[in-house]
Amino acid sequence: MADYLISGGTGYVPEDGLSAQQLFSIGDGLTYNDFLILPGFIDFTSDEVDLTSALTRKITLKTPLISSPMDTVTESAMAIAMALMGGIGIIHHNCTPEFQANEVRKVKVLRFEQGFITDPVVMSPRQTVGDVFEAKVRHGFSGIPVTETGKMGGKLVGIVTSRDIDFLSEKDRGKPLEEAMTKREELVVAPAGVTLKEANDILQRSKKGKLPIVNNNDELVAIIARTDLKKNRDYPLASKDSRKQLLCGAAIGTREDDKYRLDLLVQAGVDVVVLDSSQGNSVYQINMINYIKQKHPELQVVGGNVVTAAQAKNLIDAGVDALRVGMGCGSICITQEVMACGRPQGTSVYKVAEYARRFGVPVIADGGIQTVGHVVKALSLGASTVMMGSLLAATTEAPGEYFFSDGVRLKKYRGMGSLDAMEKSTSSQKRYFSEGDNVKVAQGVSGSVQDKGSIHKFVPYLIAGIQHGCQDIGAKSLSVLRSMMYSGELKFEKRTMSAQVEGGVHGLHSYEKRLY
Ligand code: IMP
Repeated sequence: MADYLISGGTGYVPEDGLSAQQLFSIGDGLTYNDFLILPGFIDFTSDEVDLTSALTRKITLKTPLISSPMDTVTESAMAIAMALMGGIGIIHHNCTPEFQANEVRKVKVLRFEQGFITDPVVMSPRQTVGDVFEAKVRHGFSGIPVTETGKMGGKLVGIVTSRDIDFLSEKDRGKPLEEAMTKREELVVAPAGVTLKEANDILQRSKKGKLPIVNNNDELVAIIARTDLKKNRDYPLASKDSRKQLLCGAAIGTREDDKYRLDLLVQAGVDVVVLDSSQGNSVYQINMINYIKQKHPELQVVGGNVVTAAQAKNLIDAGVDALRVGMGCGSICITQEVMACGRPQGTSVYKVAEYARRFGVPVIADGGIQTVGHVVKALSLGASTVMMGSLLAATTEAPGEYFFSDGVRLKKYRGMGSLDAMEKSTSSQKRYFSEGDNVKVAQGVSGSVQDKGSIHKFVPYLIAGIQHGCQDIGAKSLSVLRSMMYSGELKFEKRTMSAQVEGGVHGLHSYEKRLY
């Protein structure tokens, strides 16, 4: 190997390690455990590392983490928590289309306005308490300004807050709002033209939930919400759309009846759909991509799963906005054992990402993530984001109840190709091309995972861990990390079995492994 000159330094440094291209030209399929990254030069603190990365061609996340569309991982609570932390959740489809769309709606009703809300729900004094109950179900809040016309621009006559309706019941549904609302005289308002900062100060001093902004004629022109101020302060990374609603994804299959599911999801405001298949290189998926691109051109579509450039090519040609990569590497997965198909995940990510980047298509490294170090490795092989199942299962926000076994607090976690999941609905069977089969062939197992506490504690640990990994590598952002990898500056080394043993805790009589 050639020596090279470090400019301005003390002389030649022998070349060390392998470029990613060299590492993967050896021919063996590599897992994340089969290699390490050689450290680089640090001239920044870890919290300066920018983890912004592309989820799809059009959606960018501040945290490159995605929760998997599995029925023991992602429903609305997980999707909300992931989006608040700067990632995204993909709602599973092992349920009715109506249930799934409703889960998406629960995520999308959360608004993250940074400033004035100019299109809030407004009511008239003649509307009723029943209308407020319904708005609360639909929009998830009840601080509704009341104007004479029931519209923005009408004269402000009051506001209905949860305190006004908390003790009202079904029998009060017919009561007009003019009898239930807090009246104009009691409201703190700000004049039109007020700056956002001044308005925020008034809101904080007023101790109220909402601050209406009115013009000289006392007509309502905007409002500001205290909850939005708090959310902006507490969740600076939150993933939001242009209307300041949290981002949400959902998985669908590729069959005729999935078109109905798709319509409901689009009506609920879904931002990205993931075509959920264990082997995505199929005529069904290509047809579905074409259909979606024609019917909903703005909707972002993730294709997959794929593990080779040849598979990726067909989906990129069909117009996908991102690719989901992984076959047989999931913790609950027995695909490689049963179907003889698949690929070690390190190789899959590198090969597909290296091809897809030429077309500007980001790659999601899906499955097989056991540690934060695996996330760093996936990103350093060209993945833009990482999708996780087992790592996020058994958090407070994952579906299902905790139970105890031998004194350990657990939650259920199962593969979508497990018999257990396939028996629940046919959506899961479709992922494995197994609906209508007389004999079901399981491609996953059903098990349990130990309690990890809340996503609100666990994801910050993952974020800090990724930042530290990038710092050791000498990459101040994920885009720097990727360009270091493709230029060959980033160096890797294969790990022998004994190197893997050395890299783990060893030689101790006993120890406790607390990670965060
Ligand atoms: P984990 O993060 O290693 O637990 O892997 C999660 C990933 O495994 C999911 O995002 C899916 O791509 C994949 N997966 C989910 N269910 C099954 C299954 O039953 N068999 C094989 N792979 C599965």
